[in-house]
Amino acid sequence: MRYAILSDIHSNLEALQAVLSEVRRRNIQRYICLGDIVGYGADPRQCLEIVRRLNPLTVIGNHDAAACDRMSLDYFNRHARDAAIWTRGQLSPSERSYLASLPLVEKIGDIILVHSSLDFPEKWYYIFSAQEARPSFDRLTAQVCFYGHSHIPGIFRKRENRISRVVEEHITLEGNTHYLVNVGSVGQPRDGDPRASFCLLDLEARTVEIIRVEYPVEKAQEKILRAGLPPILAARLAVGQ
Ligand code: ZN
Repeated sequence: MRYAILSDIHSNLEALQAVLSEVRRRNIQRYICLGDIVGYGADPRQCLEIVRRLNPLTVIGNHDAAACDRMSLDYFNRHARDAAIWTRGQLSPSERSYLASLPLVEKIGDIILVHSSLDFPEKWYYIFSAQEARPSFDRLTAQVCFYGHSHIPGIFRKRENRISRVVEEHITLEGNTHYLVNVGSVGQPRDGDPRASFCLLDLEARTVEIIRVEYPVEKAQEKILRAGLPPILAARLAVGQ
């Protein structure tokens, strides 16, 4: 079984479409979504409709939770809050109740899915370092956890209680080793590379690969400005920050 794992689409229709055509080119039919489908970008409804049609296994992200009133907006900085309020106003009651129905954590086989971290997923902690990865490894009841939230793709590995960052972006899962895989962000990458990021998981080959795809950034930027969303949300797309 091969899966395309998408996270942090953030209402960026252009990035989502580019990722999906790359996924189709690679002949993959199964999808996993790690949350933050909406928030920041100008196309929340279109992105939601497309994701729901793909019928992925999905967990909720903090921006999804904000858009359906499942969490307070106090957590957000000003630009994120403005975008969350705008997004909330765009969605229909049935779209909001779909988001509200999503779980914080999902498990399939030897894989766990979460948006932020496995320790207190409702607190939306970030994992940037090996040290910050430890509490999630401690709660990992599968070989691999896929997550997002920081918008920075990367892989941590734990072997004999030692946690290290994996340099390669295409790995084969090894025995006696556990993994935390951040698949990066489709719609708002923050690692200095503006290309959309997603992950391919091949369960038979036991491989995990982070893939980057170019998309028409200017088009997504124009829509953000036209919608009256904070201009910084358009500017950051060009630099991947
Ligand atoms: Zn996000």
